[in-house]
Amino acid sequence: KNFIIAIDGFSSCGKSTVAKALAKKLHFVFIDSGAMYRAVTLYFIRQGIDMTDEAAVVAALENIHIDFVPNAEKTQILLNEEDVSDEIRMMHVSDLVSEVSAIKAVRHAMVAQQQKLGKRRNIVMDGRDIGTTVFPDADLKIFMTADPRVRAERRFAELAAKGETVTMEEVVENLSHRDHIDSTREESPLRQAADAFVLDNSSIDQAEQLRIVMEQYEH
Ligand code: C5P
Repeated sequence: KNFIIAIDGFSSCGKSTVAKALAKKLHFVFIDSGAMYRAVTLYFIRQGIDMTDEAAVVAALENIHIDFVPNAEKTQILLNEEDVSDEIRMMHVSDLVSEVSAIKAVRHAMVAQQQKLGKRRNIVMDGRDIGTTVFPDADLKIFMTADPRVRAERRFAELAAKGETVTMEEVVENLSHRDHIDSTREESPLRQAADAFVLDNSSIDQAEQLRIVMEQYEH
C-alpha cells in the first residue's frame, strides 16, 4: 500500500517548506493542495466568474485542468497547460482564494482530484483539510502552527523577494482574513485532526523541523 503524509495548518506556517524537504528525503511526490485552489481562483479572476452564481461556478470547473510538473528545482503548476506557478502566489490571488475555496462545488472538485493524485503513489500533501477530509486515513498527519508575527514576517519576506510591493499591514490582514474564512467555512473547514502530531515551528530552523518530522515518520 502507498504511504500518505498529510501536513495541515494555518496560512504561512511553513507547511510547504517541510513538505518539500520531506518529499525530497523520502522520494515521495509533493503535492501543494493550496496551489490548486489558487489556480482555480486565478481562472475565476481572469474569466470574471461570478462566485455567487453556482451554475457559472460549476460550468467553469469543468473547463479547469490542473497539472503538476515536477522539475529539478521546483514543481510547476499548470492551469490548462499554462505555467501559473508565479502568478498564483501574487496578492490579487491571495486576496480572493479563501472565498473561492469556501464554495462547496470547488471543494468537491478539488478534493476528488487530490484523492486521485494520492492513489498508488507515496505522497506528501500540504493544505488545510488533508488529514481530516481528503485523507482521513493518512499514515502520518502533521499539524503545523507558528506565532502569527513569525508567520507574517515570513510571508512578507517571501513576497518582497519576488518584488511585490506590499506592506506588512496588508500581509497581516490577508493572513488573518484567510485564517478566519478557512476555519469557519461550512465545507471541510481547517481543523486539527485528532491523531495529528502538532509541530510549532516559531523558533526552530528547517533542519530541526525535518528531523522532528522524520522521527514521527520512523516510529
Ligand atoms: O496553502 P496556501 O496558503 O497556498 O493556500 C491558499 C488558500 O487555499 C488557503 O488560504 C485556503 O483558503 C485554501 N486551501 C484550502 N484547502 C486546502 C488548501 C488550501 O481551502 N487544502
